[in-house]
Amino acid sequence: MTTRSWAEPYKIKMVEHLRMTTFAERERAIAEAGYNTFLLRSEDVYIDLLTDSGTAAMSDRQWAGLMVGDEAYAGSRNFYHLEDAVRRYYGYKNLIPTHQGRGAEHLLSQICIKDGDVVPGNMYFTTTKLHQELAGGRFRDVIIDEAHDPASEHPFKGNVDLDKMRRLIEEVGAERIPYLSLETNVNMAGGQPCSMENIKAVCALCHEHGINVFLDATRAVENSLFIKEREDGYADKTVENILLEICSHTDGCTMSAKKDSLVNIGGFLALNDDALAEKARNLVVIYEGLQTYGGMAGRDMEAMAIGIGESVQFEHIHARVGQVEYLGHKLIDAGVPVVRPIGGHGVFLDAQAFLPHVPRDQYPAQALAAALYVDSGVRSMERGAVSAGRDPVTGENIFPKLELVRLTLPRRVYTQAHMDVTIESIVSLFEHPERICGLRFDYEPEHLRFFQSRFKPVDGDLVLRAAKGEKVGALHS
Ligand SMILES: *Cc1c(COP(=O)(O)O)cnc(C)c1O
Repeated sequence: MTTRSWAEPYKIKMVEHLRMTTFAERERAIAEAGYNTFLLRSEDVYIDLLTDSGTAAMSDRQWAGLMVGDEAYAGSRNFYHLEDAVRRYYGYKNLIPTHQGRGAEHLLSQICIKDGDVVPGNMYFTTTKLHQELAGGRFRDVIIDEAHDPASEHPFKGNVDLDKMRRLIEEVGAERIPYLSLETNVNMAGGQPCSMENIKAVCALCHEHGINVFLDATRAVENSLFIKEREDGYADKTVENILLEICSHTDGCTMSAKKDSLVNIGGFLALNDDALAEKARNLVVIYEGLQTYGGMAGRDMEAMAIGIGESVQFEHIHARVGQVEYLGHKLIDAGVPVVRPIGGHGVFLDAQAFLPHVPRDQYPAQALAAALYVDSGVRSMERGAVSAGRDPVTGENIFPKLELVRLTLPRRVYTQAHMDVTIESIVSLFEHPERICGLRFDYEPEHLRFFQSRFKPVDGDLVLRAAKGEKVGALHS
C-alpha cells in the first residue's frame, strides 16, 4: 500500500524576503559573533532554526485579533478572552498572565520554594532550573534513564522514573519538596513526550505525599499528539481532549505561549488553588504588570487567545510535527546521528557521534552549530555542556550525557524546500567531519552562559575549513 503525501493546512498570504550570503560573508559573521549562533544578526541568517520560541507565523485571524486589542490598563477585554481560552483548553481555574514563560517560572518559584528545598523535574530546563536555584531550591533530575540515551527508541522518553521520585521523597522528605515540575515534550531530551499513564501515576504518587505537580505546559499540545499516535486507548480521542486530560491530573502550569500557542510573545501561570493564585497575583504586579496584563499588550493577549484555539486543531499540530519528522527521517536515512525517536519541535544532532575527534571540553556541539552556519547559513543552537553551565557548588563544568545541536522548526514558517537545503548541508558536513575543529571559551558570563558566551577555534581562526578546490555551501560560495 502506498501512502499519499499530505501538505500544510494553510496557504501563504504574505512573504518575508531572506538575504542570501556567501561562504566568506558567513565566515566573517560567525567570527564576529564569537562562534556563538545566538550572537549572529538575524539578517545574516538564511534559514533560522535557532528556536521555535516566538518565531511562529501568526494566522490572518490572529493578525485581525491584534486590531481589536483593548489597551486599557486594567480589565482589558482581551484578558477575559485569554482567561476563557486557558480555562477551555487547559482547564485551570486561575490565570496569571506573564510576559513569557520565565516570568511564570519566576513567580511560581518565588511563591513555592523555600531555602534548601529540592525541586524534582523530568530533566532540567535552563530558565526553569535557574529560577528554582535563585529561590533557594536545588534541582533533581527524575526522568527515566532512556531519556539520556540518544539511541533509545522508547516512545515516551519524557516519562518520570517513579522509583527515582520515590527514592527522593524517602531521602529528603516530602516536606522539602514543594512541587514536581513536570515538563511535557521534554525540550532538553529532544522534544520527547510523557505518556498519559506515566502522568497519571506520577501525579498520584506526588499527591499521596501532599506534593503539588505543576506542568511545564510549553509543548503540551505536541505531547498530546504523541499520546494520540502512540498510546493505547487514545487514537480516537481529540488532541483537545487529551490536553485537557493531561492538565486535569496536575495542579497548575507555567506556559511559554511563544511555543505551542503560536504567538511571538507571551506566557502565563495557571493555578487551581485560589490562595496560591492570590500570592502569585501579589507578585505579578511587582515583576510583570497588573494581574490583567502581566507584561503583555491587550492585542498580544487577543492573539494568544486565538492562537491557543488554533494550536489544538489536529491538522495544525499534525503538520507541525510532520515537518519535524520529515527533516529527521531524511537525516536518519543519510546515516546522520540524531536523537531517536524524532521529537516534536526539532531534530537534535548527536554532536559527539558527529565529531568524534573533538573532545568534550572543546564543545563539539557549539563547534558543529557554528560550522553548519558557515556552510549554508542555517542557524541552529548548542544544547550540551555550554548550555548546562557550571555546578553552582564546585564551579566545575557540567558535562551532560547529551551533547546536541538543536535544529528547531518555527511553526508555519518554512517550506519543505528549506528542509531539503538544511538536510544537504548537514549531510555534506557529516561526510567530512575532520573539516570542523573544536572551540575554547573567549568570554564566559555567569548566568545562562550559552546566550552570550564568545569562543575561539582551537585551531586557527576557522571552525570550518573549506576542502581544497571543493565548492562549499548550499548557497553561492
Ligand atoms: C521556552 C521554554 C521555557 C521558557 O519560556 P520563555 O517564554 O522563553 O521565557 C520554559 N520551559 C520550556 C520547556 C521551554 O521550552
